[in-house]
Amino acid sequence: MSNSISIIGCGIVGATIAYELSCSNEYTIDVYDRQQPAQAATGAALGVLMGIISQKVKGRAWNLRKESILRYRSLIPELERVTGLKISHNCQGIVKLLSPEEDLAKWEQLITTRKQQEWQLELWQASQIAAQLPQINPDFWGTAVYSPQDLQVDPVALTNALVMAAKMRGVNFHFDRSIESITADSPDSCDIFTPDLPNVASDWVIVTAGLGSTSLLSPHAPIEIQPVLGQAIQIRLAQPLGDADFQPVIIKDDVNIVPCGANEYWVGATVEFPVDGLVEAQAECLERLEKIATDACPDLVKGTIVRTWQGLRPRPNHRPAPVIDRVGSNNRILVATGHYRNGILLAPASARIIGEMLLA
Ligand SMILES: Cc1cc2nc3c(=O)[nH]c(=O)nc-3n(C[C@H](O)[C@H](O)[C@H](O)COP(=O)(O)OP(=O)(O)OC[C@H]3O[C@@H](n4cnc5c(N)ncnc54)[C@H](O)[C@@H]3O)c2cc1C
Repeated sequence: MSNSISIIGCGIVGATIAYELSCSNEYTIDVYDRQQPAQAATGAALGVLMGIISQKVKGRAWNLRKESILRYRSLIPELERVTGLKISHNCQGIVKLLSPEEDLAKWEQLITTRKQQEWQLELWQASQIAAQLPQINPDFWGTAVYSPQDLQVDPVALTNALVMAAKMRGVNFHFDRSIESITADSPDSCDIFTPDLPNVASDWVIVTAGLGSTSLLSPHAPIEIQPVLGQAIQIRLAQPLGDADFQPVIIKDDVNIVPCGANEYWVGATVEFPVDGLVEAQAECLERLEKIATDACPDLVKGTIVRTWQGLRPRPNHRPAPVIDRVGSNNRILVATGHYRNGILLAPASARIIGEMLLA
């Protein structure tokens, strides 16, 4: 008999877990979300997968990144093949511009370490930046690190494809269904409660509810997830920035300039912590973001802002992101939440860990 699993939350993390677990016919899977898929943090994300270019070189933080980058290389074509959907993604890598004040030795060391780990990173001097990326401000006299093996993916298209592919493998999705609470009183099952409907019992509950995780888990474990706001804009230009055939993601001072097709670019995102418990978008943060982006690529000022949006990143308090754990008196509530700034990147490795926890 198959094990029943209820997954609460259908952002990138819940959808990836549902899809990866659906590859095994050991499970009957139901996914619940109080909205439609990819509406919360996932719907606001830029999908920049900073794996190889991250400063993490060992331990859990590096292993999760490396594993996810590897899995994405097969996952995206696999989903496109299975669903027939197009998942917009960019395999031209990431260029991170380094100001002259940056600690270059730290980046040179990273390049050496990645080489030993059999990954590729390149250090570009100003002349190479000018040749490869004519859109960069000619006054920029720093260096750049180019990571050709990192990528970017449209998070909403990806989540929708995961949902469709999981559905094709028998996963049941229940959207616009809010889960109010979870109980773990029985030794070998958990119950989830929805307003106005009978409770649902399953062998396992997996909580992938992002910012909704804290209240769902509070009777079982104190897992505090704090919102950190991010604002972003989409700019439309008359023609692509620089060379139309080489359109990597460009990063300057933590601001991403992400080509998203049809001469349009996402620029984001601000990082805004709550002030006195309030999460409110700050106009000056958006202004700073625009200034950094237009200083780096002056032609962006010729464009029109066609969309401005904001989202809340789920950041765990007092513990590293992400939180992947087993809680509840019967240990049958699994948690994959608090992915903060890297949920799109880390979803595949999170799904693998949850899969192993189910078998342990
Ligand atoms: C502006 C911005 C830019 C970002 N850029 C990047 C990036 O470039 N790369 C990257 O890797 N990450 C990025 N992130 C971070 C990334 O978006 C998150 O880490 C990731 O989306 C978290 O995914 P999730 O599935 O855990 O949460 P979410 O996407 O928030 O999904 C949680 C889901 O749970 C549901 N839910 C909550 N409570 C309940 C309940 N009680 N009952 C039923 N359903 C419930 C919600 O409706 C929601 O759909 C960015 C985030 C923001 C805001």
